[in-house]
Amino acid sequence: MKEFDSDLHYHSPYSVGVSKNMLIPIIAEQAELKGLNFLSSADCLNRHWISHLKENLVEEENGIFKAKNNEISFVLGTEVQCKNKVHHIIFLPDFNAIEEIRKKFRNYTNELDSIMGGRPRMKLNGEQISEIVFDAGGMIGPAHAFTPYFGVYAFFDSIRKAYGEQGKKISFLELGLSADSFLADKIKEDREFIFLSNSDSHSPWPFRLGREFNRIKLKDPSFKELQKALSEKEEKRIVLNVGLNPKEGKYHRTACQSCYTKYTLQEAEKLKWKCIECKKEIKRGVVERIEMLSDGKNEKPDFRPDYLHLLPLQEIIQSKLKIKLITSQKIQFLWKNFVEKFGSEINVLVDEPIEELMKVDAGIAKKIDCFRKGLVLFEEGGGGQYGKPIICENKKDFEKKKFELEQKEKKQFSAQQKKLFEF
Ligand SMILES: [Zn+2]
Ligand SMILES: [Zn+2]
Repeated sequence: MKEFDSDLHYHSPYSVGVSKNMLIPIIAEQAELKGLNFLSSADCLNRHWISHLKENLVEEENGIFKAKNNEISFVLGTEVQCKNKVHHIIFLPDFNAIEEIRKKFRNYTNELDSIMGGRPRMKLNGEQISEIVFDAGGMIGPAHAFTPYFGVYAFFDSIRKAYGEQGKKISFLELGLSADSFLADKIKEDREFIFLSNSDSHSPWPFRLGREFNRIKLKDPSFKELQKALSEKEEKRIVLNVGLNPKEGKYHRTACQSCYTKYTLQEAEKLKWKCIECKKEIKRGVVERIEMLSDGKNEKPDFRPDYLHLLPLQEIIQSKLKIKLITSQKIQFLWKNFVEKFGSEINVLVDEPIEELMKVDAGIAKKIDCFRKGLVLFEEGGGGQYGKPIICENKKDFEKKKFELEQKEKKQFSAQQKKLFEF
C-alpha cells in the first residue's frame, strides 16, 4: 500500500470568490510543489467545469483522472448546499454518475450550470440529496461540520438526524479550518466518524491549496479504494490528518462579526448576541458550539489517526522575515529554494531532518523546528477574522510570550466584565 497526501475539497473558478488561476494544469503543478498527490476535481456538477476537466484530465480505470502535466490523481467531487443551508461534500465514481445526478438535481436548482454555480444551492434537504448520491454510487458527508454559517452543527444537534433515513450511511465528516480531531472527538456521535481535513481553498498557491490535507493509505489510487478509506474505519486507511491549528480558524471563538471582540457563550447570551462595543451581531464560535454538544469526555477512538498542526511554509518564512505581503518576491524566492532542494513543501515541513534544512536557511529551519516542537502561540480567530500564529524562538521565549499573551487576555477580559456588569 502507498500513502497519498490528499486535499479533497477546494473550488473552481465557477464558485464565488475563486482565483481565475484555479485551472487543472496550474492546480496539478502547484499540488506537486506542495507535495500533494491525490485531489478532488472540485465543482464536478457544473457543465463549464466538466468541459475543463474533460479537456485537461485523462480518464484512467477505477474512477481516477490523471493530470496531463504530472502524476497527480484526481477523483470527481463537489460541494453542494441543501435547503437547510448546510454544505455537503460529495464524491462520484465517474461521469455517468455525474449525468445521472445532474438530471435529478436539475429539478431542484437552476444554478447547476450558472457561471457562479460551482457550489449549487439545492431545494432538497440533506436526506434527499444523500439518497440521490448513494443511488449513483457516490459518497457524501457534511463539509466543515462546525462552522457557524454552513456547517451541519450550526442547524442540527446530530449529523445522523440531519441526514434522516440516510443518516446511518454517513461515515465521514470534514473538520474545517476552525476545528481539529481533538475538538471534534469531544462530541460523542463524532467518535464514530472518519475525519477529513481539507483546504476548501479558493486559490491554487501552496499557502492555500493543501493548507489542510489527509494522508491516506491506498492499494492504488481508485474510487473504490477511496470509498474504503472514507467508509470502513476499522481499515484505518487515513493515517494522518494535517491542518492549521484551529485557533487560526476564522470561526474558532465566539466573537463580534464587525469588531471581533470575543465573548463566552454566557456573555453572548446575556447580550442577546449583540456586541457591547459596536452593537453588531456576535457569531457563535466552533469552540462554544462543541462545548454545547460535548458529553464532557474527550476520548480518542482507536481508529483515529493523529492530527498534525501545520502552517504553510510561506507563512513561516513570512513570520521570520516580518514581511506583510505573502506574495512578496523575497518569500517566493526562499520558498522555491527549499522546495526545489527537498522536492515538496510537505517534505520540508514534516519529514526532512532539521540539519538538512539548515543548509538552505538556518533562520527559517529553526522556525520550522520550533513549529514541529509546538512552540507556537496564537491570537485566536473568531467572528470571521483569522487567528494569528506567534512562532517562538525557544522554550524560554515561548513561556515569556505565553505569559504576555495571558496577561493581555486577562486585561481585556476584566475590562469586558466591567462593561458587562454595567450593561
Ligand atoms: Zn462550504
Ligand atoms: Zn463589535
